[in-house]
Amino acid sequence: MPHLNWESLGGVITTNISSVSWSANRIDNFARGTDNALYHRWWNGSSWGGWESLGGFITSEPVAVSWGANRLDVFAKGTDNAVHHRWWNGSSWGGWESLGGIITSNISAVCWGPNRIDLFAKGTDNALYHKWWNGSAWGGWESLGGAFVGDPVAVSWGGNRLDIFVRGTDNAMHHRWWNGSSWGGWESLGGILTSNIAADCWGANRIDCFVRGTDNGLYHKWWNGSSWGGWESLGGVITSDPSVVSWSGNRLDVFAKGTDGAVWHRWWNGSSWGGWETLGGVITSEVSVTSWAPNRLDLFVRGTNNAMFHKWWNGSAWGPGVANQTLTVHIKILANPTNFTVDEMFTQMRNIFAVAGIEVVRGSTEILNVALPAIAPLNDIDTASCTRGNPSAEQIALSNNRNNAAANHVVVYMCRSVSSDSGSLNGCASFPTNRPMAVVASYASRYTLAHEVGHVLGLSHVNDNNRLMTSNGTYNITNPPPDLVASEVTTMLASNLSV
Ligand SMILES: [Zn+2]
Repeated sequence: MPHLNWESLGGVITTNISSVSWSANRIDNFARGTDNALYHRWWNGSSWGGWESLGGFITSEPVAVSWGANRLDVFAKGTDNAVHHRWWNGSSWGGWESLGGIITSNISAVCWGPNRIDLFAKGTDNALYHKWWNGSAWGGWESLGGAFVGDPVAVSWGGNRLDIFVRGTDNAMHHRWWNGSSWGGWESLGGILTSNIAADCWGANRIDCFVRGTDNGLYHKWWNGSSWGGWESLGGVITSDPSVVSWSGNRLDVFAKGTDGAVWHRWWNGSSWGGWETLGGVITSEVSVTSWAPNRLDLFVRGTNNAMFHKWWNGSAWGPGVANQTLTVHIKILANPTNFTVDEMFTQMRNIFAVAGIEVVRGSTEILNVALPAIAPLNDIDTASCTRGNPSAEQIALSNNRNNAAANHVVVYMCRSVSSDSGSLNGCASFPTNRPMAVVASYASRYTLAHEVGHVLGLSHVNDNNRLMTSNGTYNITNPPPDLVASEVTTMLASNLSV
């Protein structure tokens, strides 16, 4: 399997992400922060701005829409359960404006034309409510009746056209539409749903809906302009709501979280379904997807550390670039580790380094005979100062044991204990020139091996217990697996040991 990489965009977010593009090569992302304020991070075509706090105290996911270039409207529920609104007019943020109402769901917002916004949400009576901006004033709140669970989704395939989908209390999909002059009545489209609905229109009078079924598979139902097809099973086992986007006519890209926590993708190319394809990662949100041009996709998710992560399709490949480098690591055992097995440490290293696009290959494993007088004293190895480029005499002696290892292979020696001038260590990665090596103590953590090999590849300590290279000891790592940041990945890939 190729290495599947995600770009970390940082932050600590507590909701799904709302992503919107108001022009080519422009993306605006919104999410709630730990202080319940609205946060914004944007791509301007060449670099990421943000995170910018837009204040407020929101109690739902934010939803952002754009009805024109350089225009953003963001909506969220407040502590008073009313809808609150903040907007970007091209030069500054207005806000926060209360739009009233008492809602009990996330908000769906849609724009069918310039300076037009329609909002939908569930009320306290579980009915659908509608409020709209007509270019000069807010109408609403209008009850559209019905009774549903979860969040509504609204789409528009043309000017003055609205289609709303909800999961009814009977778990079937229900539909109501505005034809430009009046509302049609609630229509049941059947099915047994176990998720919210994702809907998209890739052309006039065309609608595609995606849901999860009782078997946790993905299901598809579509309006072709004259009738509903339905319900088509697209298989898979998904553990989130599906997400869908279309970057051109007769093209659909659908995303969801799998049972492995990774993002999975299936697509319609105009004549058949491809897929399922894994895009890797371990996500703790639904997948937010936007497309700012044909054959372009940008995905945003929350990771296990609650930061935002990004992956994109540029028309020919998924970014960030797949490095596909290899690093070979040999193991020499003087004393077996006691808290974790070598295999477990190696698996952790493989998983963490895979994020950087480096496949760690397990070279040879050799047991060094500690009964030999030349080896015995090295089992409790003294690393002196344990500083890079300054190996101790004992480390130099140990480095002579490089059976099977090529010059650019890393050799890790599992010792009974590791000490330095300042006391006991879990490991140490100082090594003589041209003999890349590390030592790991028997009482090391599951991450010590990866941490020490990280040093061998040129990484330095950082005071952050979310990260592999924490200076506070790898037993103190929080939110496992520990992270590598982009600059660390760059350093690792530049090492002449990873090829
Ligand atoms: Zn270290």
